[in-house]
Amino acid sequence: MDCSECINFKKVVIVGCGFVGAATAFCLMQSGLFSEMALIDSDQLKAEGEAMDINHGVPFNKPMKIYAGSYDDVKDASVVIVTAGANQKSGETRLDLVKKNINIFKSIIPEFKKRKFKGILLIVANPVDILTTVAIKLSGLPENRVLGSGTVLDTARLKYEIGNLLNIDSRSVHAFIVGEHGDSEIAAWSSANVSGIKLDKFCEMRNLYNYKEIEEKIANDVKNSAYEIISRKKATYYGIAVSVKRICEAIVRNERSILSISSMLHGQYGIEGISLSMPAIVGREGVETFVPIQLNDNEIKNLRLSAKRLKEILDQNKI
Ligand code: NAD
Repeated sequence: MDCSECINFKKVVIVGCGFVGAATAFCLMQSGLFSEMALIDSDQLKAEGEAMDINHGVPFNKPMKIYAGSYDDVKDASVVIVTAGANQKSGETRLDLVKKNINIFKSIIPEFKKRKFKGILLIVANPVDILTTVAIKLSGLPENRVLGSGTVLDTARLKYEIGNLLNIDSRSVHAFIVGEHGDSEIAAWSSANVSGIKLDKFCEMRNLYNYKEIEEKIANDVKNSAYEIISRKKATYYGIAVSVKRICEAIVRNERSILSISSMLHGQYGIEGISLSMPAIVGREGVETFVPIQLNDNEIKNLRLSAKRLKEILDQNKI
């Protein structure tokens, strides 16, 4: 049977209804992208409560069936989003979550395989690059159908910071964070521009001449933003929820948008066998292809270091 016959393109499943899963569900309810959404959590009452609460917004939006589901719901879903897993506590890095969340994934991902899930698997739980690599292995899905939210959120944070600094619409900023969604992430300054104008030139237009200091400050602010938010409110969820909605849009509407999702690399920049974030064309089939943006020697060196660091962690946690 052709895959398109068994997939309901209007159905999404969210596994994990904590801060991130619930905010994502709320965001997707308002998006009009799907007409059916099943929420799954090991805490069944939490999934039920979130479904009940979010359903009460439906009369103000588009018709949608939202309910606490089970793994049988993944059978015909077009997108399954996994946010289940421990989150960072104040002082913890994303990589501190590895063992706990790999174990959680070992209990979740095989459930999709059992039900012959054929849609797109979108990983959000952290450390997202490691867990995307793990999900590819455990799901048996073709690699292009398993992607992580990667640095889509970090890229949004970067655009926000640059837009703010230059006092322009952040949507006119074209810049990416690549590599790990985490402490070794890289701001790809060498390809950053504002509507085609190189960033250093745009800074000059705005009478900002300390470009190198600006770069460094913005990259650090972006990298540390999750720590700053977590130290104040214990979790981050709105930014990631909108990022996940954006990725779903690209998939469901077959937009072929270029997003810095996390996906398996095979030889790009000399990196092999690990999922990392690079700008890629994203559509109904998941990841179509990576987009080789211009990176300078230093950025490539740091990207390889980022991959090496993740690979070592993955090797220590054999799947
Ligand atoms: P949370 O603790 O609020 O929610 C986690 C949920 O997962 C809980 O409801 C829990 O019951 C559920 N869960 C745990 N084990 C499960 C299992 N085996 N099956 C089903 N459900 C299970 O955490 P959160 O703040 O929502 O964060 C969730 C994950 O998302 C964390 O790993 C966090 O680091 C990550 N996160 C990622 C990004 C990103 O950019 N990728 C951003 C923010 C948070």
